[in-house]
Amino acid sequence: MKSRDERLGMDRQISRRDFLNGVGVAIGASLVPACARDAGPTEETIAPNYYPPSETGMRGAHAGSFETAHAAVQGKHWKGGKTGEHYDLVVVGAGISGLAAAYIYRRDVNPNARILLLDNHDDFGGHAKRNEFDMDGQLYVAYGGTMLMDAPKGYPAVAYDVIREIGIDVDRYSEAPHREFLRSVGAGPATFFDKETFGEDFLVAGGLWYSDGMSEAPLSPQAREELERLTADEEDYLAGMTAAERHAIVESHSWRDYLEKYAGMGDEVLTFVQKWPHGVWAIGADALPAWMAWQEGYPGFAGMDLDDTGTGDEEHPGRNFYFPDGNASIARLLVRKLVPSVAPGNSMADIVSARFDYSSLDEAQNQTRIRLNSTVVDLRHRDGQLDRDVDVTYVKGDEARIVTAGKVVWAGYHAMLPHICPDVPKQQALAQSSSVRAPLVYINVLIRNWQSMAKLGVQRAYCPGSHFHTVMISHQASLDDYEPSLSPDDPVVLHMQYIPLEPGLPAAEQFRAGRRALLETSFETIERRVREQLGRMLGPGGFDPDRDIAGITVNRWPHGYAYSVDADSGDVAWWPEVWQHKRRPWVDARQTIGNIVIAGTDASSNAMTESAIEEAHRAVQEILWIS
Ligand SMILES: Cc1cc2nc3c(=O)[nH]c(=O)nc-3n(C[C@H](O)[C@H](O)[C@H](O)COP(=O)(O)OP(=O)(O)OC[C@H]3O[C@@H](n4cnc5c(N)ncnc54)[C@H](O)[C@@H]3O)c2cc1C
Repeated sequence: MKSRDERLGMDRQISRRDFLNGVGVAIGASLVPACARDAGPTEETIAPNYYPPSETGMRGAHAGSFETAHAAVQGKHWKGGKTGEHYDLVVVGAGISGLAAAYIYRRDVNPNARILLLDNHDDFGGHAKRNEFDMDGQLYVAYGGTMLMDAPKGYPAVAYDVIREIGIDVDRYSEAPHREFLRSVGAGPATFFDKETFGEDFLVAGGLWYSDGMSEAPLSPQAREELERLTADEEDYLAGMTAAERHAIVESHSWRDYLEKYAGMGDEVLTFVQKWPHGVWAIGADALPAWMAWQEGYPGFAGMDLDDTGTGDEEHPGRNFYFPDGNASIARLLVRKLVPSVAPGNSMADIVSARFDYSSLDEAQNQTRIRLNSTVVDLRHRDGQLDRDVDVTYVKGDEARIVTAGKVVWAGYHAMLPHICPDVPKQQALAQSSSVRAPLVYINVLIRNWQSMAKLGVQRAYCPGSHFHTVMISHQASLDDYEPSLSPDDPVVLHMQYIPLEPGLPAAEQFRAGRRALLETSFETIERRVREQLGRMLGPGGFDPDRDIAGITVNRWPHGYAYSVDADSGDVAWWPEVWQHKRRPWVDARQTIGNIVIAGTDASSNAMTESAIEEAHRAVQEILWIS
């Protein structure tokens, strides 16, 4: 008789077998960049077959990417040897913000500048990470992090300019035809109730909230009535109150508490809504302020008629834009601008299937070099003089090296900077320590076909009690050179999400607890959960996790969405725009320090691509002022 693990396919030889608990045992000498040092500029030799997007197993904060940074924060020091390299600009962090800063610097400050970008990961893009699967010679791409441009037509002008300049025309492609196709085969929104939480495994096709099929769902009659009422969202639960009283209530309650106290929702419905905000805010209903739930359009606030504090949808008009690999395509377009030899092509039409030649990223003759697997552990102005060059120490492998820079853009995380840069003033260090990151996990699963989903009518499922709150066919637009799966008989990438949290604690503490738990969770544990949940959800449609799963990539992001904690309230400063009139620690935190300027989404406490670019632009303008 087969064991439970065998039935799930845990013994299957899929590509993640190269990995043991996230440690890449298969990365041998051929994949590790070798370097030959001499007194002159460092010549990096990256093997031609070095191609991180096709790595599966544990990605995101992969093994080898974070240990050095953690040691540096805990006080470890390295004595580096000088490489002899000097750059006009060194950018720490090759996420979208760092890449955009390098691009804007060349555009606005010096087109002939010599620039070095350093990043601790084995790939560029930061959260905007590309995952690839190859099956039977066919390429399947997916987003390992940053998924979409949120209504790019509403982007701030400086960010919209950059995306246009690198070749993105947001009107040119859309995923609408793919959605239309999914609808035509009957695949749509669904809800999955799990046995452990609701008493029975039960999949309801037809909606993410209350839908007709829920009359059979494992909910008590009372919970069904409540959920139907909440979904209809027609009642004013604060009827008779003044605007000031309503304000006071939504500002002093979590969404969960508000629904319990004022909308009369019972435990079952409160459990149902708990994970609803996970995908967008990386927090549950227990810690999401009610006023944010209202502004986000979540149910429970009909007839509220509150003054708009200025963050509604009107600021983000228009459609979202999805590349099949998410905003990794933005990172790739930026990299191709900075290092043209990395890939042929010149438009968004050819970027998705372009195979990048990583061996050209760090060639000595490049004007811009991108050095991966390199963690910056020390940053200081020569002789402590803020008008002098900056010594940048980074660790690659076991070795610390020093390059010098006229200017530095810090596009990493605020919380790390004071630990590695003695030039940060004390007050600024305090402000930087107020930044906090929410952990997230994005999993991509290549399945051999999606007949079971078509049969069950599922394109995207909300799973309120399960480990993965979202399971969906990943967003797909057809570009000139990349076609989405248009038949349920074809393979497709499923996207699954979970947010490690500790409900009941204040949000910032939940993030910290979740991060710790995440780093202690093995790939094998996550894989088993993936197989179990897919088997239970889709099994009734014929899905067999042992047979149908062809590849799994787990992207863990212990330092995910950028938030800030308000020292006065101790709460997360959820929505930066509404803090215009309050203290904004991220503004104090991002001030220029001599020749070091600060970009990245911590600088706006706003985990969005447009902010990453906007902060890069601001940082480069600050260089112009100090030059
Ligand atoms: C799972 C996930 C999904 C998201 N989805 C979206 C989305 O759909 N749309 C959207 O607009 N935004 C999304 N975001 C927000 C995302 O953070 C931003 O859009 C943007 O990609 C952030 O870019 P960044 O360059 O500021 O930061 P990052 O992407 O974090 O890049 C910073 C880089 O600097 C590196 N670094 C830090 N310290 C050092 C050091 N000392 N030495 C060397 N390197 C260092 C980091 O490891 C990282 O690679 C998502 C975020 C996550 C985590």
